[in-house]
Formats: sequence, C-alpha cells, structure tokens
Amino acid sequence: MLFDTFQRPMRDLRISVTDRCNFRCTYCMPREVFGANYTFLPKSELLSFEEITRLARIFVGLGVEKIRITGGEPLLRRDLEKLIAMLVSIEGLHDLALTTNGALLVKYAKTLRENGLHRVTVSLDSLDDAIFSAMNDVEFPVARVLAGIDAALAAGFSPIKVNMVVKRGVNDDSILPMVARFRGPNTILRLIEYMDVGNSNRWHMAEVVPSAEVIATIARVIPLEPVSRTRAGEVAARYRFTDGKGEIGVITSVTQPFCGDCTRARLSSEGKLYTCLFAGNGCDLRKLLRDGASDAQIAAVVANVWRARDDRYSEKRAANPVVEPKVEMSRIGG
Ligand code: SAM
Ligand code: SF4
Ligand code: SF4
Repeated sequence: MLFDTFQRPMRDLRISVTDRCNFRCTYCMPREVFGANYTFLPKSELLSFEEITRLARIFVGLGVEKIRITGGEPLLRRDLEKLIAMLVSIEGLHDLALTTNGALLVKYAKTLRENGLHRVTVSLDSLDDAIFSAMNDVEFPVARVLAGIDAALAAGFSPIKVNMVVKRGVNDDSILPMVARFRGPNTILRLIEYMDVGNSNRWHMAEVVPSAEVIATIARVIPLEPVSRTRAGEVAARYRFTDGKGEIGVITSVTQPFCGDCTRARLSSEGKLYTCLFAGNGCDLRKLLRDGASDAQIAAVVANVWRARDDRYSEKRAANPVVEPKVEMSRIGG
C-alpha cells in the first residue's frame, strides 16, 4: 500500500474518459468558455481503452480498490461499455462505478450492467424544468434524466446515488422536492457544496449553501440523524431519516473539508495523473505509455508522485484562496 506525505493511502482512482459534454452546466463548463470556439482534445490525445486498462491495472497493483469512470460526460465516449468489461476483469478491483448526467442512460444502462459495471451515480440539480435548464444550459428536460434513472434501476443498479450541486439563489428551493422524490430504498440523494473547481465558473463563496444549512432545512421537515462513516475516504457525510425511509449524503468540501481523509488519484482524459481536484499540473503518464515504458517503470513513477503528495487545497482555501490556474473539472471529472 502506498502512502503520501500525510499518510493517506492511494485507494481510489477516478478516470475521465472524455473532456466533452452534451451539457453546459454553469458551474462546470460555462458556455462563455466552453462555447463553439472551444477546442476539445482530438481522439489521438485521449487514452485508448487499452491504455486506460493498462494504467488501471498498474494502479490496482499499487493499492487502488475502487475506480470511478467520469468526464466530461463519460457516456459520450463511443463503446464505453467495452471499457467497462475490460476494467471489471482486473483482479483486485473491488468496485467499478460511473458518474453520468443521465442523458444517455436510457440507451446504455442495460449494456453497462451486463458488461459488469457495479454502480451508477446520476447528476440532477432540480426537478423543476426552468431551474434545471438554466443550470444545464442546453434546455435538457428533467423527465429524460428521470427516465435514465428509471432505466438504470430497471437494469439492476441499486441503490443509485443522485448528485445535486446546490447554488444559493439558483436551486436551493429544489432541495426539499429532491429529497421527497429520491427518498427511499433505491436512491440516495447527495447534496454537494458548490466548489471553485477549474478557472471558469466565477465561483463565489456567497453562492455556496453550507451543508449544515442544507441539513437544517431538511431536518425541519423530516427528522434526520447522522450515520457513522463506514469507510475511510468516504466523500459524503451520511444522514438517515429517523422514520427508516432512506438516507441522504452531504458533500461538505467547502465548509468542512475532508482532505485529511482523501485517498483519491485522478487520471485525466489525456492521461495525466492529478493528486487533487484543484491541482494545476499533472504527471504525464501517456508519454510514458507511448514511449514504451514497462509496467514496472510506470508503477515507479506513480508511486513517486503519490509518496510526494501533499495536497490539501480545500483545507487551505479559506485562509489562502488560490489564484493559480487549476485543471478544469471536465478534464478530470468530479
Ligand atoms: N458529466 C457527468 C456528470 O455530470 O455526472 C460526470 C462528470 S461531472 C464533472 C461529475 C460531478 O461533478 C457531477 O455530479 C457534477 O455535478 C459535479 N460538479 C461539477 N462542477 C462542480 C462544482 N463546481 N461544484 C461541485 N460539484 C461540481
Ligand atoms: Fe457536463 Fe457533468 Fe460538467 Fe455538467 S457537471 S457540464 S454534465 S461534465
Ligand atoms: Fe482531496 Fe484535493 Fe479535495 Fe482535499 S481538495 S479532498 S486533497 S481532492
């Protein structure tokens, strides 16, 4: 097992399979930046499925137990189900999950399940079409995401986590309807504090709704109690409804950072290894792959990067807001 300078093990790997997306969420890929003139990576610069699988196997050999496929929108990557089948066969990998905006789930849920994907997380910020459209900025209807969630449930994924980014004055009124809709045995709503990822979303603290406030809002209507964390490195703080009808999670990355527990490595779509969501630079593993490095050589580079890791951006944010350029969320995923 590999440990960084704060004794954090490398247990999770998030792999971004594309920098493209069919949504333009204002908090992630705002249209002013990711408009018609934005240049996305050409196919030749993306890691191939063989390259991704080879790297994933090396990471699992170094202690990674859980892999999450993300993006951009991962279901835009052609034949993604084939990658799933390749990854799921890696010995020692305990958990393979996918985060998606749900737009293409009706089409792909069944094949993803058949090819061995373990879990799906779907992002949805509101049940109100006007609010959701303003946030996804492509007028994508709520009903189609709900249909995607239903298709994933029908394919056998359960429970499904539903990610909601909460922005003050934008979708905070959607919290209670979302809780009501996704309360139950098969879905777990996770309310995420709006973060200052990337350099494009013009983040401001005033737009963050602290998770403590979110919990208080929900508890006024439906009593809740905290659930102790079952796994080190778990991102969400969990709460269960005291009537036994389900649970929710809150992701408190801004107001109560959890860097001390962060076991996540990230591989960008062009094959760079990042040790923090807010990092400016990544280590170019694609170059090693394409220059003919052996597995042992690549493993040694990854191990050195992790051992030198001292990231704790969110913990430092409050005291010292960082202004250097950061990698865009759409390149490395959430
Ligand atoms: N396109 C897929 C999706 O939206 O689920 C996967 C990639 S997306 C970057 C992964 C997650 O990051 C989503 O749940 C999204 O809501 C979240 N996210 C994106 N920008 C964010 C921000 N500024 N603050 C908090 N969460 C954010
Ligand atoms: Fe696309 Fe996901 Fe980013 Fe929204 S959050 S723009 S769906 S990558
Ligand atoms: Fe991990 Fe970086 Fe987030 Fe801290 S800020 S929890 S180190 S990804």
